Amino acid sequence: MARHLGDDWVLPTLDDWNRPWFTSGKIVAQACEDCGAFQQPPDEICGNCQGTNVVFRDCSGEGTVESVAVVHQAVHPWLADAVPYAVVVVSLDGAPGVSVIGNVLNREPNDVRIGQRVRATFEEFPYPDGEGADGETLRIPQWEAV
Ligand SMILES: [Zn+2]
Repeated sequence: MARHLGDDWVLPTLDDWNRPWFTSGKIVAQACEDCGAFQQPPDEICGNCQGTNVVFRDCSGEGTVESVAVVHQAVHPWLADAVPYAVVVVSLDGAPGVSVIGNVLNREPNDVRIGQRVRATFEEFPYPDGEGADGETLRIPQWEAV
């Protein structure tokens, strides 16, 4: 799959806390097994109870658009070919209180609406050689309207 924001766009530096999100090919959310709270971004401790018994749980991969902004002006030359694009905040099904940011790929930017149901899709490509995560495959979550 071609990269939505272009081949020059900055990739995440993988660590133990973001690796499930960027490589699993699933929508996951971190949950606290002590108090049941979900949180994003993941952390070593629960932001609700300060417990350390945090785990990743698979979500359904669906959610609801809570906010949308259409970007018309490239804020960096790497984005010149991508504009206009819609940036959305999606509340995740199965992870109360967790919202994530992404793009909706299968609609014209001005056709993305608050309240729209979306399903995750993944841009899959190998992490470039020499950038610290050689051999890993990135599966960047994006969204499609359903
Ligand atoms: Zn907790």
